[in-house]
Amino acid sequence: MGHHIDKNGQFQSDRHPGLPPDKIVVSFKHPEAWPALAALAEAYQHRDPELAADIRERLRTCRGLPIDAPLDDDFFSCEGCGKTIKPGDKYTTTLDGCFLCEEDAPSFQDALDHWNERDPSTMNDEERECAESCRKALADHVAAGGSPDDKPLTVMT
Ligand SMILES: [Zn+2]
Repeated sequence: MGHHIDKNGQFQSDRHPGLPPDKIVVSFKHPEAWPALAALAEAYQHRDPELAADIRERLRTCRGLPIDAPLDDDFFSCEGCGKTIKPGDKYTTTLDGCFLCEEDAPSFQDALDHWNERDPSTMNDEERECAESCRKALADHVAAGGSPDDKPLTVMT
């Protein structure tokens, strides 16, 4: 068992130690959480349709889409230039869950420079973790034969 399971076998959040056992914080600001939030809306559809609709509404607005955007327009837009990121396009996400197109995405080096400019004493744990993972991502990329000026991109599916 991992370090998120307490002595009673219950789940305990390490990022939110004040949270009671068996609870987890799911943030609309984290793209990793969006599929879970969409599934939650689905699961509540019959029991609480208003909750389901509101979760879906926020999932759309936090991706920069107007509330009344048609469903088939349900794509992500670039925080930098506003361009729609469609399936097949390359993109990256920022720490606060914004999407950036290939052109506006920072390179491995840009991302690390951003953190190096910060005073570590003003950063929270999450930021320090991100700075560390930027440092590691750049080192791994260069070790694998890449250039620091390449961009860490994901293809939209
Ligand atoms: Zn852009």
